[in-house]
Amino acid sequence: MKSLRSQISFNTLASIAVVSALIIGLSIYVYEKLYIEFVSEEVDAISVNMAVDLINYIEEPAGSFNQTEILLRLDEYEYAEAAYIFSNDGMLLNLYVGHAGLKDGPSKLQGENSQHPNYADFDRSIAALPGGLHRTSNKVIMVKTVGEEVFPLGKLVLLFNLQDALEASRQRYITLVTPSVGILIIISLFISARAQRRTMRPLSTLIDTMNSVVDDKTYDAKVEEADKEEMLALSRAFNNMMASIKAQSEANRQKNEMLQKQQSQMEQLANFDALTGLPNRQFLIKLLSSELSKAQKNDRELGLLFIDLDGFKSVNDSFGHDTGDKFLLHISLLMEKTLSDDCILGRLGGDEFVVIVPALVSIANLEEIAKSIVNSVSKSHIVNGLRLDSSVSLGLALASDCNYAATNLITNADVAMYRAKEDGKARFVWFTNEMLAYTQRKVLISTRITNALENDAFYLTYQAKVDADESIIGFETLLRWHDEELGQVSPAEFIPIAEQTDKISHISLWVLKQLSHESPMLIKAFGSHVTISVNLSPHDLNNHNVTQFMLNELHTGRLPAQNLEIEVTESAYMNNFNIANPFFASLKKLGCKLALDDFGTGYSSLSYLTQFDIDTLKIDRSFVNKIGESSQSEMITKTIIEMAKSLEFSVCAEGVETQEQARFLTNHGCNMLQGFLYSKPLPLLALVENFSVQANHS
Ligand code: C2E
Ligand code: MG
Ligand code: MG
Repeated sequence: MKSLRSQISFNTLASIAVVSALIIGLSIYVYEKLYIEFVSEEVDAISVNMAVDLINYIEEPAGSFNQTEILLRLDEYEYAEAAYIFSNDGMLLNLYVGHAGLKDGPSKLQGENSQHPNYADFDRSIAALPGGLHRTSNKVIMVKTVGEEVFPLGKLVLLFNLQDALEASRQRYITLVTPSVGILIIISLFISARAQRRTMRPLSTLIDTMNSVVDDKTYDAKVEEADKEEMLALSRAFNNMMASIKAQSEANRQKNEMLQKQQSQMEQLANFDALTGLPNRQFLIKLLSSELSKAQKNDRELGLLFIDLDGFKSVNDSFGHDTGDKFLLHISLLMEKTLSDDCILGRLGGDEFVVIVPALVSIANLEEIAKSIVNSVSKSHIVNGLRLDSSVSLGLALASDCNYAATNLITNADVAMYRAKEDGKARFVWFTNEMLAYTQRKVLISTRITNALENDAFYLTYQAKVDADESIIGFETLLRWHDEELGQVSPAEFIPIAEQTDKISHISLWVLKQLSHESPMLIKAFGSHVTISVNLSPHDLNNHNVTQFMLNELHTGRLPAQNLEIEVTESAYMNNFNIANPFFASLKKLGCKLALDDFGTGYSSLSYLTQFDIDTLKIDRSFVNKIGESSQSEMITKTIIEMAKSLEFSVCAEGVETQEQARFLTNHGCNMLQGFLYSKPLPLLALVENFSVQANHS
């Protein structure tokens, strides 16, 4: 690409060349003009002299010696071409051909011989020329009168050809002038180059500044204002432009800063839990995935702890969400303190936490961490001015057991954590492969429960309770579920799952509604004296929907208060004592009875019994079915019956299968018996059919 400088240099050179050529041309022209004038004057002077001298010889015959001699004076003039002497009547008297006329030879006189062909050949128009100087482009012709103008004797015509002279002088001139012009051009170019450089300097500075701006991104660059008008305008425009770029870049920087701040805030919100500030579920999974790939690459073990607070729901329900939140924060800080820096603690949600142990040295190491968490959390804490007892259940899993897959690892640890809960809470349990199948079934059952509720796959059965005379005195309502995929599923299996997945209250509501439909038929078939027992889960006692629905159904009479008995386990009652007590009091006021189910398997803290306002103790099947086999079980059964009697409770024995068991129980004063010996749990219609005779009889 052509540079501006070379373009200007070329233009300057061209201008100088054109001007020089013009000057040379003009000076040549002027010189030639002056030369011709000079020659003309000289020719005039020569012609004057010759004409004067010819006065004496004009009368002489043509080609006379004297005439010729006078003409020969022209020999000393190199550019003399010809000379003619005419008589007054126009006859050519003498003719001279000079150097310029005879380029190849000496000058010749033609006058002596009038017969010479040149006499005839010469240009006749010359003879006709008037007196005076005549010029053509390269010839000077002087016509002089010989003698007085008033008395002319003849005419002298001198013809000078200046072509060669002019050419020679032109060449001489050019040879003389060209070096000077050349030098002049060089000097001009030199001066113009310097001037250019000076003129272009601001432009170069501008370019350098622009380049430095591009390289360094320093938008506060400025150039000095140049003194030339155009450059001044350019530098000002540049400075203005830089000022506006700077302002723009400053605005952009501020905007960027704001965006970065917002982004980090958004990242914080997206990746960290708002309550505890710990990594949240999605970020934790990301962190776990990256730690897992590092561990797998370096052939290292990675351990995961799945932590769930025991009984957190009751903290929330009893003391409100504010206390619940503070409690969670307190526990998370406590756990953080017990963990070393290389462990990653995160909150999955609710009361679930996870600890990633990236470079696990040994299995014992993970157990130590688990122990320290169990120990630090499982105690009383003062939160919001309240003393809260807590504990945690932990599931432990290793990355190598699930091929370093993040979600599988979490599931495994989660499964183990559930096992820890089932095993009695406040402990840690290692994941084993058998747990997985169990969990998979649990997950399936949980999803199918929702389906069963929607499609009425549940139905109620009733198991008879008899007195010592084997007369039916009541029924226990037992739920049944036949699933399309799973077949018959026992409540012993699906009720705990429903409790863990918060579906139990829906089931309980279904049972109560169904019972309000079926109980009138039951009472009608077996008499108004029958007691209809229904089981409530500990979760139901905490569920406002369930308790309110039940009270409502009793108030409206859709559930028969006088016939209804609630069965709760000892632990359900004890763990929800504060909430359960007023609820049971309301029920009892309406005429309902209360039975303590599965007695002997739970806390068996007998001192509590004095505080429970119950009507019946149900001796657990595990004692009953050992009657006749284990004297210890018999002893316990006997003691429970006696104790219940002393506290004025009725006693019901569950799971009576043999006459021997029945005999033992009735002999020791048990006044209610329930078991396969009398009846299996049956749906209403089958029950009515089976026992219609007895019912009719009573
Ligand atoms: P549960 O309340 O202790 O019920 C007694 C269980 O013992 C019933 O098991 C009954 O079928 C079984 N059983 C009764 N007599 C005999 C016997 O002679 N031999 C044997 N081997 N078993 C006998 P089921 O129906 O499988 O219920 C298991 C548990 O599921 C119940 O224990 C109860 O805790 C719970 N459950 C059942 N229905 C409901 C319900 O509607 N709501 C709630 N919350 N829990 C329920
Ligand atoms: Mg029961
Ligand atoms: Mg029971």
